[in-house]
Amino acid sequence: MVLSLKYRPKKFEDVVGQRVVIETLTNGLERGKVANCYLFSGIRGSGKTSTARILAKALQCEAGISPNPCLTCSNCRLAEEGNHPDIIELDAASRRRIEDIREIIEQSKYPPSIGRFKIFILDEVHMLTPEAFNALLKLIEEPPPFIKFIMATTEPTKIPDTILSRAFHLHFRPVPEEELTPYLMELLKREGIEFEEEGVRLVAKAGRGSVRDSLTILEQVVQYGGGKVVADKVVEVVGIVPPSLISQVVESVLAGKKGEVVRQIPQLARYDLESVVAALGEELQARLGSDTLQLTVAHRFFTIIGDGWKILKLNPDPKFFLSYILLRMVEASKPLQIEELIAELEGEIESPARLFDRLVEELKSRDEELGVCFETSIKFISFHNGVLKWESCPEERCKKLLRRYFALVIKPLIDQIFGPVSKIEVVRCTEKKPPSPPPVKEGERGGKEANQFPQLEEVTKAIRLNFGTQTPIEIEPKRPPQNIEKE
Ligand SMILES: [Zn+2]
Repeated sequence: MVLSLKYRPKKFEDVVGQRVVIETLTNGLERGKVANCYLFSGIRGSGKTSTARILAKALQCEAGISPNPCLTCSNCRLAEEGNHPDIIELDAASRRRIEDIREIIEQSKYPPSIGRFKIFILDEVHMLTPEAFNALLKLIEEPPPFIKFIMATTEPTKIPDTILSRAFHLHFRPVPEEELTPYLMELLKREGIEFEEEGVRLVAKAGRGSVRDSLTILEQVVQYGGGKVVADKVVEVVGIVPPSLISQVVESVLAGKKGEVVRQIPQLARYDLESVVAALGEELQARLGSDTLQLTVAHRFFTIIGDGWKILKLNPDPKFFLSYILLRMVEASKPLQIEELIAELEGEIESPARLFDRLVEELKSRDEELGVCFETSIKFISFHNGVLKWESCPEERCKKLLRRYFALVIKPLIDQIFGPVSKIEVVRCTEKKPPSPPPVKEGERGGKEANQFPQLEEVTKAIRLNFGTQTPIEIEPKRPPQNIEKE
């Protein structure tokens, strides 16, 4: 039993998963519209050659051109047997030279012997040499009225534009699992073969859109499974990653269990890397938006996998690749857990006053002197609707320090801790200290002792205090651009 041969489609309606292509062809045939040159492109096993043969038969049937050849006339029967003298198949993968095309050109001089047309089916046509294409082009440009071409290719981009522009191009899509699975189940029923639906689904998946590959895999599975299609056996035969393993790995990653992930990597590395990554992608996709996988984390994961492919080019070791992406994924799932914890804690206990304390602590940790100055000079009043209000009573020495580092250090930290602060309201000191000018106003900085342009070392210090990561934030909002009147 060779299923792929036995179930090779003989009629248009038998072709699986190519509704658009088949409808286009049958509509054309019904209306007697026949192109001189067809190009069928698509992945292997998607039905291109079978469709080409059915089309050839439909064009030769003695009952007339129609989408439903009679299958009984001698033309139909000869075509069916592959013995029709006017249907000439050429495999361009093995016969790609100009000499091979010259043979076709020679044959094209003579009218069909028994059929309506002389039909050339050129398989894997992209394999032809440039010279062969050139020779073919002349024939396609001005074909004798009885010549038809049906070309098939898995790589249409390799076909010269001159040919493409003269061909009626039909795209065969990879057959989706959802269409392959019921087709395979139907076929198994007809064959009287027992099956587990999950097993058939895995076969369809492993076929990756190719009907022929799916049928070949199905046969192996039936043989290995002792005449049945059993999911566990399918996993073994096709070497696909067991869904349970992928699911466990993702669980470990999300739980941050690094050790567990490290133990699982060798198991994963036994499988074809592309399948592992595909399975990983599917598992993440299935969990997307659920409680176990949030969108931000998923985004990080996919970025990591994408980056991983670049690394793979440098080091093609699957174990290394898997360690690289999975351990990074463990890391990527962690910060969010901490962020979540912080968010929770903040919601419960972190009042604005507490935030202000954090600001002071943070300033101290960066520069003790600056932090102490800030703490003794500035008293928190309120934080409401993005407006931070405080009272300022600085001593002379602190005044200087606070001014210098306000824009470069203090304000960025405020934004970081409070979120964007739209305004800082400074209340004049109620104690007997001399009032301090509000440090936020750039324009008031030009006092006698205030240095408008901090010395280089101070700038360096400010940058160091900010860990070099923050660019100074402008205190005053930028003015909106002036309207310039145009003539
Ligand atoms: Zn017929």
